[in-house]
Amino acid sequence: MSPNRTIGILGGGQLAKMLATAAAELGFNTNIYCPDRDCPAAQVSNETVVDSYNNYDELADFAKNVDVLTYEFENIETKALEELEKIVEIRPSIKALKICQDRYTEKSYLNALDIKTTQFYKIDEVQAIEELLIKVKKPILIKTRKLGYDGKGQVLVKTQNDIKENFRENQLLPSIAEEVIRFDKELSVIIVRNKEGTIKTFEPGENMHQHGILLTTTLPSSIGKELLNDASIIAKKIVDDLDYVGVMGVEFFLKERQLFVNEIAPRVHNSGHWTVDGSYSSQFQQHIRAIMDLPLLSTERHSDIIMYNLIGKVTSNLVNNELAKVYIYGKKETRPGRKMGHINFIKKKGS
Ligand code: AMP
Repeated sequence: MSPNRTIGILGGGQLAKMLATAAAELGFNTNIYCPDRDCPAAQVSNETVVDSYNNYDELADFAKNVDVLTYEFENIETKALEELEKIVEIRPSIKALKICQDRYTEKSYLNALDIKTTQFYKIDEVQAIEELLIKVKKPILIKTRKLGYDGKGQVLVKTQNDIKENFRENQLLPSIAEEVIRFDKELSVIIVRNKEGTIKTFEPGENMHQHGILLTTTLPSSIGKELLNDASIIAKKIVDDLDYVGVMGVEFFLKERQLFVNEIAPRVHNSGHWTVDGSYSSQFQQHIRAIMDLPLLSTERHSDIIMYNLIGKVTSNLVNNELAKVYIYGKKETRPGRKMGHINFIKKKGS
């Protein structure tokens, strides 16, 4: 192990903060690039460069000063990253990021790998939504292809009137329409792969969303072992195909014992926060280890656990036991729908 190496992280939110903390445990430095001076990761990193993601010169300077570059969110212009790749290795690769940052490309890629997704359609104009609604005669979900997260950029369309109310011809961003699936459960696999192709998966957690935002992840889930194993196999297929290095989050819908991938995130994932207190290693440690070519650790779960997101608030009246570990991200401004922190409620395994 050679410490004193520096990891560059694009983005300075809570994921970067927890990555920087894991990096520091191993003696690595972290430099953060973020447009917001008060970003959460600035609290725990060595240096924060405050500038826009569109400033290619500043990004290039940033890249020159780090040994490896990673990112905590997928909406970075790939054109910028292609320039940075000439300077420093980017992990996970730009290829993975490109696929994941566009919902149409992402779902097409998964289907090409023989992985099921919900039925989806490319939507470039409002008329296409009108025609599709007439054709399928069922509610459809319109999602922007890019920049959507936490349910943002999504509109549920049940009637032609919903279309009129929500979309004006010249304002429709390139989108997809998705069938609305009445799933039984949602789950996610947090998976890590290193350069040699060693793969480890955490036990899949069961997720509950509220208004499109993750509220809880529960371990163990109420889903049978066989299906959990199937989900892990699907996630493995993806990381192997991409020759992926780092942690990936793969979100699934489960309906009538069939698994549909909803989304893949080429980064550490909110539904993996439980790993910090419920597993022998955390997703953050594993990501840092993978991108720094260190051996991966055990992903075995040692405790039962519920991760509860603090959305639009920094306190909770649920914290009334000694095994509730609270994480506050340190964001200056509290806004409705904004993730401000989370709590891991830990229980002895099987108790
Ligand atoms: P997404 O931004 O695609 O991850 O969506 C956020 C959440 O919205 C999901 O985790 C689901 O709870 C819900 N959702 C998204 N797409 C669908 C769909 N096609 N059918 C039913 N619920 C959905």
